[in-house]
Amino acid sequence: MSYKFWFMVGSQHLYGAEVLKEVAEHGNIMAKGLNSDEIIPFEVVFKGVATTPEEIKKVCVEANGDSECAGVISWMHTFSPSKMWIGGLSILNKPYLHLNTQFNRNIPFDTIDMNFMNTNQSAHGDREHGFITARLRMKRKVICGYWEDKAFRRRIGGWMRSAAGALFSRSLKVMRLGDNMRYVAVTEGDKIQAEKDFGWSVNTYGVGGFAELVNNASDAETNEKIEEYRSRYAFNTNNIEAVRYQAKLETALEQMLTEGGFDAYTDTFEDLYGLMQLPGLATQNLMSKGYGFGAEGDWKTAALAAVMRAMSQGLDNGLSFIEDYTYHFELGNEAVLGAHMLEISPAIAADRPRIEVHPLGIGGKADPARLVFEGKKGDALLTTIVDMGGRFRLISHDIHAIAPLKKMPNLPVASVMWRPEPDMITGNEAWILCGGTHHSVISYDLTAEHMRDFAEIMGIEFIHINKNTTIPELRDKLALSDIIWRG
Ligand code: MN
Repeated sequence: MSYKFWFMVGSQHLYGAEVLKEVAEHGNIMAKGLNSDEIIPFEVVFKGVATTPEEIKKVCVEANGDSECAGVISWMHTFSPSKMWIGGLSILNKPYLHLNTQFNRNIPFDTIDMNFMNTNQSAHGDREHGFITARLRMKRKVICGYWEDKAFRRRIGGWMRSAAGALFSRSLKVMRLGDNMRYVAVTEGDKIQAEKDFGWSVNTYGVGGFAELVNNASDAETNEKIEEYRSRYAFNTNNIEAVRYQAKLETALEQMLTEGGFDAYTDTFEDLYGLMQLPGLATQNLMSKGYGFGAEGDWKTAALAAVMRAMSQGLDNGLSFIEDYTYHFELGNEAVLGAHMLEISPAIAADRPRIEVHPLGIGGKADPARLVFEGKKGDALLTTIVDMGGRFRLISHDIHAIAPLKKMPNLPVASVMWRPEPDMITGNEAWILCGGTHHSVISYDLTAEHMRDFAEIMGIEFIHINKNTTIPELRDKLALSDIIWRG
């Protein structure tokens, strides 16, 4: 989807037409500079120099009504008296980024005079703007730096991803096939609160209707999927019929998702009415195409995966649904094995995934075809969302994915092994103290800053477990959170 970010440069009429012309030129050059840098993922649209309360309010009203506008970026080139901004900012409902930068990198020591000072006042103009946004209690991001610097642009690009995720989230539809797994607590949640806080429309559809579509999938559609599987994956099975059944499942799922405008879905092994296999390969292939998925009816993780995928537009290091599967407690070599019984996206595979057919052990259906692979190595982020009753908590955890400590020839699932920050013991304790799920989304592209900005835009609590996390501090933070974020 194409998201746009509106860029307003603040000034006033006090300095005369010549100065305003120069300010507009600088704003234009800056917008062009940002747009020509691939680190900026979405288009910056320069909306001119704002000099009166009426102009500012007009841009804010238009931004609110523009379906492609994912956020507003401002910068005060000169001093822009901030009472002019109250009317517009009070009604703005798009994410807001305030840049503190300057057109010139260095002070022109030999030539600097009072004219230069009048034109280049962001050092104090942005402070005036910072006050009014603080005074209005605005949710906002502030980024300081020189506009041509990579580090500065990378942070702007990062915030844009969070804001784009927020806009995507506001129109996300999630399809549920069956309820969540019986008696499970953490996959429960308030779907009305979720629609209010995130915009997620979560609704259920009959598994029987889905089964009918599966049975009606044509040979031509099935053959087409098999060809696709052959081009992407290695066949490590003679049970082609089982693979063909997954092709039919994927065809039917794709049809329902497309027709309903869904970007995420769930199913559950406890409700497979009329189906021969639990979707495995079918769901794995769909996840790699961008659909969010949550197993056992976990609609929160399904929706979160779709949002994080939207935030990752143009990045391709991979993202998947994952589950904390089992621990390795060898002293000094502790690690977590993440996997699921089937549904891990091949987007995070280190090598070409293999299609295999094995018994599932639960669900009482035929052996499902699935992709088997080892996950990529590298820094990654685990993120989950829990319903605390009247409010949601978003939790992100820094981890390092590693090569499996040893081969696991008898475990026929896709898996990733990782070491959590700050160490496995503290990291696991922290996650469990937060109430974090066994399900989460693993991303090799997004960082905690992306998720923190997303949480702020959506108005929900955010916890980041990282190399500096200590349990006593976390416990204090969680106790405070219950006061700050009471539902
Ligand atoms: Mn699970």
